[in-house]
Amino acid sequence: MSLQEITDRIHQAENAAGRAKGAVKLIAVSKVQPIDRVEAVLEQGHRVFGENRVQEAAGKWPALMKRYSDVDLHLIGPLQTNKARQAMELGHAIHALDRPKLANTFARLAQELGTCPDLFVQVNTGEEAQKAGVLPADADDFVKDCKSLDLPVRGLMCIPPVDEEPALHFALLAKIAARNGLEGLSMGMSGDFETAIALGATHVRVGSAIFGERVKPQG
Ligand SMILES: *Cc1c(COP(=O)(O)O)cnc(C)c1O
Repeated sequence: MSLQEITDRIHQAENAAGRAKGAVKLIAVSKVQPIDRVEAVLEQGHRVFGENRVQEAAGKWPALMKRYSDVDLHLIGPLQTNKARQAMELGHAIHALDRPKLANTFARLAQELGTCPDLFVQVNTGEEAQKAGVLPADADDFVKDCKSLDLPVRGLMCIPPVDEEPALHFALLAKIAARNGLEGLSMGMSGDFETAIALGATHVRVGSAIFGERVKPQG
């Protein structure tokens, strides 16, 4: 599917949900994609991208950012604490704040660097053992702790379990965000971004629908 088709579908979903055109930010998830596909999307004028791994992003984006101005890079994958500094220097937003240790590290580095990317707290809405994120029951306390560290928490992020109705998870995330006074909702991927928009997504993370299937699988 072309970038234009995805953008049109997003606008239709915004419209159907009674939301303003442009209310939803499309993050084009470029992980593991051949560089020519990424450049093709940049050439079409798109500037908002997502990467899963800091290492991969660091190998790819500094050079692209020199050639294309105003790239807005979102790091959306699980983050090891020892990669936090690199992530903060590279990304304009990080969608995987999922534990106190990482929050403390971000807070310390934010002091040192004098700046901090926008942060999204990842919530493990399906309570899956293998998945990152705070449990729904712990989310309010965790958000409060992050705010008391002066971290710029902009919203929440989730990845629903593959075998469940995503709408239930999106609705749960929206509810947790609302009661914590958070406006950002990073939810919805290639298969379900329209559902996510109907339930209030402000950021959708779409990879394969734009770029085609990934050459090698990555979680
Ligand atoms: C890979 C990835 C996506 C994009 O997935 P698609 O199904 O290809 O759209 C979105 N969010 C996260 C966290 C990802 O790792």
